[in-house]
Amino acid sequence: MLEKIWLSSPHMGGGEQKYVQEAFDTNWVAPLGPNVNGFEKDLEEYVGENSKVACLASGTSALHLALILAGVRNGDEVLCQSMTFSASANPIVYQGATPVFIDSEQDTWNMCPSALEEAIEDSIAKGKKPKAIIVVHLYGMPAKMDEILAISKKYDIILIEDAAEALGSTYKGQKCGAFGDFGILSFNGNKIITTSGGGALVCNNEEDKQRAIFLATQARDNVPHYQHSHIGYNYRMSNIVAGIGRGQMEVLDKHIGFRRANNQFYQELFENVEGITVLTESTSEYFSNHWLSAVIIDENKTGFSREDLRLALENENIESRPLWKPMHLQPVFKDCKYYGENVSEKLFENGLCLPSGSNLSHDDRSRIKEVISKMIK
Ligand SMILES: *Cc1c(COP(=O)(O)O)cnc(C)c1O
Repeated sequence: MLEKIWLSSPHMGGGEQKYVQEAFDTNWVAPLGPNVNGFEKDLEEYVGENSKVACLASGTSALHLALILAGVRNGDEVLCQSMTFSASANPIVYQGATPVFIDSEQDTWNMCPSALEEAIEDSIAKGKKPKAIIVVHLYGMPAKMDEILAISKKYDIILIEDAAEALGSTYKGQKCGAFGDFGILSFNGNKIITTSGGGALVCNNEEDKQRAIFLATQARDNVPHYQHSHIGYNYRMSNIVAGIGRGQMEVLDKHIGFRRANNQFYQELFENVEGITVLTESTSEYFSNHWLSAVIIDENKTGFSREDLRLALENENIESRPLWKPMHLQPVFKDCKYYGENVSEKLFENGLCLPSGSNLSHDDRSRIKEVISKMIK
């Protein structure tokens, strides 16, 4: 059996262990320390736009804290892109709030601005303005931020950007994660950079950042003994993990280059194939890190389905995966409201993510090309 080609696997740059060693040498083996501060500073400089970053245990915990800082509580409604990973929506339920799911649009596969506005109007008409909007930059593709920001402003609703998959992506030159009232990042094992597990909350001001750190470290009042006036969480990032992050930041832009080259490879591979579209930027305003490259297959034109292609790849020990199953179709969210015209449903039925790691080798691409060429001949 040939070696497995993964969808997206960790890709170390070589500098990570130096920072981890430093943590051991100085005995900063704790959920705070110079690596945590250093990684936060690296991220603040990278994301820009005066962002203030708090490093946390995961992207999911970052979203949870964003909702708490946004004042989301029991009984509130939160609008969330339906086409996403469940981690975008789960923290809404942690807060006792109710998710309302919004469909995608065709250009970016992200939140459809008109379905979003329809949902808001509908909620307001029923006497209940939603508390927050969670927009996702899926697979690294920036969402239609001009429209979505305008809606968040018009209705004065807090905007949370789930940029877990989009570190390094930009829209009109501005980094994803820096548009909303809050942004979240993930450094899980298969993301564009990884710390083995971890995440970050991007805030607009130091006050929010400090509040997030306070909540993430068990909400200890500022007195010598342990005293608590609020419910806290254990969500802070460890100094060991942050060391890996600092090393990964040294290679982030290089790795984005590799991921973008993968997307180019797939675009060329499918260039003259009728019925297959590769997700790519619709205009030069968008710059995707192309965390994952994905295609939509029109079976009527190709004669094979996305499942046929997935199985053909699997047969050669090559991993691929259907697109995220929309949240409004998930058993756990089946009773939630949904606005849209089933764009996300069709994307899910016909879409496939292809191997996209920044460590994909020339030989790996040849093997992928061979399987795909056989299918489309
Ligand atoms: C990975 C991911 C998350 C969650 O991040 P974790 O660090 O795994 O908790 C949230 N949203 C999206 C879209 C993701 O892909």
